[in-house]
Amino acid sequence: MPEFAFIGRSNVGKSSLINLLSERKELAKVSVTPGKTKLINFFIMNGNWSLVDLPGYGYANVGKLQRNQFNEAVGDYLEQRKNIFCTFVLIDSRLPPQAIDLEFLRWLASCGVKFALIFTKMDKLSVSQAEANIAVFRKQMAETCGPVPATFNSSAKTKRGRTEILNFIEEQLVKNNRA
Ligand code: GDP
Repeated sequence: MPEFAFIGRSNVGKSSLINLLSERKELAKVSVTPGKTKLINFFIMNGNWSLVDLPGYGYANVGKLQRNQFNEAVGDYLEQRKNIFCTFVLIDSRLPPQAIDLEFLRWLASCGVKFALIFTKMDKLSVSQAEANIAVFRKQMAETCGPVPATFNSSAKTKRGRTEILNFIEEQLVKNNRA
């Protein structure tokens, strides 16, 4: 089954986004204790693709992130799994670029995984603030990690981004004759 994976710093809003995409309240558990989930969860969506919920990274050793400093199973999964169609990397739109996100993206780009960005929590700040943060992130990413891929803006609160992300997934399935 084609797989679409979701990953980001702990507390970025990944569980909330997964619940939004699936229209299920508790498919992914919204964290009470950030950083606790260590499992890779697979959810079959629509009968024709799998949503893969990867454990979040974060907290430790900013600036020295190596492959083995985020969950080792995640590293293996992303490096070796043949049926990943796209990995969505979630970025908190409220924050200036975080070293750990850029480090992770640099690693991801270096291992040739196809990925896209989702800026989360867009309801929490003004349009101009969000645009400014995203512009700085895109610039820093282009400088350190190579070309900026497809980008989505989302909010679990207003449901923004749901249609766009699901349409993008559908397009990837159609392109590969897997719809
Ligand atoms: P995870 O650790 O990445 O899975 O993040 P969660 O989905 O558990 O969310 C972390 C916190 O951010 C929770 O308190 C959520 O209610 C909140 N949150 C997540 N997404 C949004 C969003 O789009 N808008 C707002 N305002 N809060 C959000």
